Amino acid sequence: MSFTLAIVGRPNVGKSTLFNRLVGKKLALVDNQPGVTRDLREGEARLGDLRFTVIDTAGLEDTTDDSLQGRMRRLTERAVDMADVCLFMIDARAGITSIDMMFAEILRKRSAHVILAANKSEGSAADAGVLEAYNLGLGEPIRLSAEHGEGLNDLYSVLMPLA
Ligand code: GDP
Ligand code: MG
Repeated sequence: MSFTLAIVGRPNVGKSTLFNRLVGKKLALVDNQPGVTRDLREGEARLGDLRFTVIDTAGLEDTTDDSLQGRMRRLTERAVDMADVCLFMIDARAGITSIDMMFAEILRKRSAHVILAANKSEGSAADAGVLEAYNLGLGEPIRLSAEHGEGLNDLYSVLMPLA
């Protein structure tokens, strides 16, 4: 039996970069502009000997707009309900924002099984953000660098018991 992992979090934290790395094909758009991708994307992920379904959430652009915040919330809730486990991603270089707090709240309310991932964690510029991530009350963050492929062993370790 396998499981479904939803990657959730605010725009531009690196969700699609991780999705692409796990799926191994450019199924999700990645761009320097936040939120270029626009919906939920599903792919078959490989991580070591693990095979699972991964969902990339997108369409979360321009979070200052109230209606888009609503859209972001609905999309995230949909992804959470489709998934066995959520990877909640924050940007360790940016630190925790109010939108990150909103996501944490959605995940808590949905009582989702959450893996907290502090992405963009390559180098010491991420250290403060990784520490801040503990304040979300979602346990110990995994240090990831989706772009550089770092922290994937730790991700494997937390996912392996689910397979
Ligand atoms: P999404 O909006 O959450 O899907 O984020 P994307 O995957 O589109 O990435 C947003 C930006 O962050 C892009 O410019 C990526 O190249 C960059 N990015 C993604 N992962 C990392 C990382 O591990 N380290 C750094 N420094 N940048 C990253
Ligand atoms: Mg994306």
